[in-house]
Amino acid sequence: MKKTSDGHNIKRGFPLDQGLTSPAAFDHRAPAHADYDAVVVGAGFAGLTAARELGSRGLRVAIVEARDRIGGRTFLAEQEGQKYEIGGTWIHWGQPYVWSELQRYGLGISESVSGTADTISLLTDAGLESDTAEAMGKDLETALQLFCDIDGTGGRMMFANPHAPSDVAGHLDQSSLADRLAEINISGRQRSLLQAFITMNAATDPAKGGMYDQLRWWALGEYSADSLLKRLGRYKIAQGTSALALALLRDSKAELLVGEPVTEITSVAGGIRVKGKNISLNSKTVVVAVPMNVLSDIKFTPGLPAERQSAHRENHVCAGTKFIASIDRNVGAWVGFAPYPNPLTMVIADREIDGKSLLVGFGPDDKIDLNNIEQIEKELRKFLPGINVTNVLAHDWSNDPYAKGGWTWFEPGQTTRVLAALQTSTPPLFFANTDWASGWRGFIDGAIEDGIRGARDVIDFLHLRA
Ligand SMILES: Cc1cc2nc3c(=O)[nH]c(=O)nc-3n(C[C@H](O)[C@H](O)[C@H](O)COP(=O)(O)OP(=O)(O)OC[C@H]3O[C@@H](n4cnc5c(N)ncnc54)[C@H](O)[C@@H]3O)c2cc1C
Repeated sequence: MKKTSDGHNIKRGFPLDQGLTSPAAFDHRAPAHADYDAVVVGAGFAGLTAARELGSRGLRVAIVEARDRIGGRTFLAEQEGQKYEIGGTWIHWGQPYVWSELQRYGLGISESVSGTADTISLLTDAGLESDTAEAMGKDLETALQLFCDIDGTGGRMMFANPHAPSDVAGHLDQSSLADRLAEINISGRQRSLLQAFITMNAATDPAKGGMYDQLRWWALGEYSADSLLKRLGRYKIAQGTSALALALLRDSKAELLVGEPVTEITSVAGGIRVKGKNISLNSKTVVVAVPMNVLSDIKFTPGLPAERQSAHRENHVCAGTKFIASIDRNVGAWVGFAPYPNPLTMVIADREIDGKSLLVGFGPDDKIDLNNIEQIEKELRKFLPGINVTNVLAHDWSNDPYAKGGWTWFEPGQTTRVLAALQTSTPPLFFANTDWASGWRGFIDGAIEDGIRGARDVIDFLHLRA
């Protein structure tokens, strides 16, 4: 198995080891052809799905990926026989596109122990409070119900179908999470739990994160905190996200070119030219499957329509950190929450390895130095006094040049400003990414949804529909 340059491993007492071993890592190869029916730029789930859909139609497809691995913002690392999901991880049968791919490729699920937590700890300025998961869960449920009740029906009227663009976006889209928090009357503990939860979702200051995305998540989670939490953080792909990425790649029969950041996409007679440092490929169609926050790094000639150009200049605001820490004891089925601006907003016990817990920590806005095991240990000890951290695995998604952020979260007003433009194609150039999916936008499911949609548009454009 190869080591990729993404991610790092810090073992207590050893220097930081850059790069992680992954089954999704590939060697660099030169292109076999100069002409393709479709070039897909980006080998995350959106790009891989689009390539599978197009390749299975018998088209000649190339996937051009900047990294030395596939999977994009999902990243399975393997170390000493254990699997570690460094990026996107949890999926659910309520996420229809990813669930159907699991069935297609015969993949199973495993559970994080935190999904059935018995204890939840809440860290606030007043100190650390632990209670049963049932009692804390009830408080979070009450708080979220009130928070998301923007229409007197718990959000059910305004977001009756979260997969359909909502025509109430313009009105609701203007509020931040903090604006809405200031409007509701709940207990101190409920407020702290709720503030931590919404900070976790947006992975930024609640004053910067838009309320609209929270309402979408709420509707996608069937208007219940319990049901939403099951969809957000309980079930993982047992074989790892890389197993699904590799299955899609195999099925696509596409040529994969890794280590090739695309810099220019130019219209030429009869098609489009895709250029990077070492490549110049001609194609009838192109599917750009890169994240919203890096769209502006690609030069399009001729220029794109004005609304799309200005959307390319915008960034979504999720700048969360995630790390995986091995500790020297077993904390059982436990979850910790802390409201913003604590450097960690949520810590969960994922599983046990040799009787010791593996924790996953999340924080907003890069407040944790992922290279610093001592800082990570200090922050974890606020939740779990006396623990020692023996190992940390992480990747800095916000400073990653091919992601420049985490999962999608729009700031107030941004849905209205950019979503329609990002969802519009400019044939023979098409765009596919979770960042502008309609349903589980920001999730693996949304990436697969938009990959299918992007490929469908290409198939229609090439008049291949039977
Ligand atoms: C820390 C973290 C935790 C997450 N947790 C979850 C979770 O638990 N569940 C869930 O469903 N989702 C989660 N997500 C979100 C999920 O990982 C993403 O929504 C999904 O993987 C995005 O897929 P995508 O194909 O749309 O985009 P990406 O995965 O970002 O793929 C885009 C690809 O384009 C490539 N690229 C970029 N620029 C260029 C260029 N110029 N030339 C060529 N290639 C380029 C990138 O390298 C990348 O491979 C998480 C994300 C992060 C970062």
